[in-house]
Amino acid sequence: MKKNDIIKLKITSMTSQGSGVGKNDDGIVVFVPFCAVGDEIEAKILKVKKTYAYGKIERIINPSYFRITPDCEAFTKCGGCAYRHLSYNSEKEIKRHRVIDAVERIGGLSGIKVKEVVDNKRLSRYRNKAQLPCKNTESGVEFGFYAAHSHRIIPLSDCLLQPKLFKKVIGITEDFMRETAQNAYDENSEQGKLRHLYIRYAEMTNQLMVCFIINGNGLKHEDVLVKTLKENIPELKTVVFNSNKEKTNVILGSKNRVAYGNGYIEDILCGKRFRISPLSFYQVNRSQAEKLYTIARDYAELKKGDVLLDLYCGAGTIGLTMADKCKKLIGVEIIEDAVKDAYINAGLNGINNAEFICGDAEYAAEKLRTDGIKPDVIVVDPPRKGLTPELIDTIVEMNPERIVYVSCDCETLARDLKQFNANYYSIKEITPVDLFSRTPHIECVCKIERTKS
Ligand code: SAH
Repeated sequence: MKKNDIIKLKITSMTSQGSGVGKNDDGIVVFVPFCAVGDEIEAKILKVKKTYAYGKIERIINPSYFRITPDCEAFTKCGGCAYRHLSYNSEKEIKRHRVIDAVERIGGLSGIKVKEVVDNKRLSRYRNKAQLPCKNTESGVEFGFYAAHSHRIIPLSDCLLQPKLFKKVIGITEDFMRETAQNAYDENSEQGKLRHLYIRYAEMTNQLMVCFIINGNGLKHEDVLVKTLKENIPELKTVVFNSNKEKTNVILGSKNRVAYGNGYIEDILCGKRFRISPLSFYQVNRSQAEKLYTIARDYAELKKGDVLLDLYCGAGTIGLTMADKCKKLIGVEIIEDAVKDAYINAGLNGINNAEFICGDAEYAAEKLRTDGIKPDVIVVDPPRKGLTPELIDTIVEMNPERIVYVSCDCETLARDLKQFNANYYSIKEITPVDLFSRTPHIECVCKIERTKS
């Protein structure tokens, strides 16, 4: 087998990342994205390694039973969705097996109960946030999405994961940039002003935040842009200009300037009101996040006298939805604005047993431990890279009865569970929750219990 060969393949399984797996006549494994189990295809070989190869679909000879017709023109080109060609049931099956596989292979754990994936009833337009890059074209600035594993921008006027409303913001911004002859930022030349358009929508309160990320401090004639947005979008609550002059992949800079409104929006989650400002994390799928937090709250099994430590707490959302169940809540979060939001959020909901610390979870937890704080339950919700071994050691030394691990990356979750399992804690149960339908990602919540002190 060599590059550019066209071979026949029958897809017999899927990888955890969603590629189809088939074997050629010599038994060499070929990975082909955007396939379904049962597909018979002609694949074009793109890259050959010693024991396996990568290919792409050249032609589908016989489609799998699990296939559906993709409903998006950018599917397979844009790096967002992986499963628009599959029935939702098979997507959930693949995701559940991704979790089981990670726990067994990376975590070295067997017999862990992994529940059925919690359904997302709304497979389209469930996201409440978009961060759109833009580029200069002959007809002006155009927004789009990054192609998979690249910074090439695929133009797309509508994304089926996002609210329809976002299209309006995109259109107004593109028109404004063209009419005022301003440019998109170019990563290579480091020239141009507009880097990203960042939009957030609070669906329960119908409030929209629009944030422009600028290589500089602002845009020329930006008052006209703000006025046009205000006149055309009744949902608009605030407009913020974020300044990012660094040569970096990080989208947001640290400085915000409010051009309209208060600089934040508010949403309702699990019956509580939350203020979210641009730099604060907020789950992108609100209704599924409610299910996630409800399971986390059940797993925590808090008692009236308990101390709850919420590590990686963002704007306080998880801890604040549990605070009525315990004596004291301590949250830890590294982003200062999120900590400010967390305090306000406690106030908005009449919660007065909460305290928030701004700092790195690893060091803050160690400080709390040496200060003699003994949490009964610890919730962790780290970014994709998971926990550090040092933080896990500190958590174990704090000796909580229970740990609830919320994770957006089941591979790092599995790695961390291995360390907990080797240190007097046992993994009780994992529930995957489908927060990111049609994409390869799966959120998990895991209950971990102390076996002995
Ligand atoms: N639990 C929150 C936020 C989860 S996202 C929610 O459900 O909304 C992860 C959070 O961890 C983000 O707010 C991020 O800013 C924060 N974070 C990232 N690295 C951190 C670190 N080293 N220490 C503390 N917080 C960190």
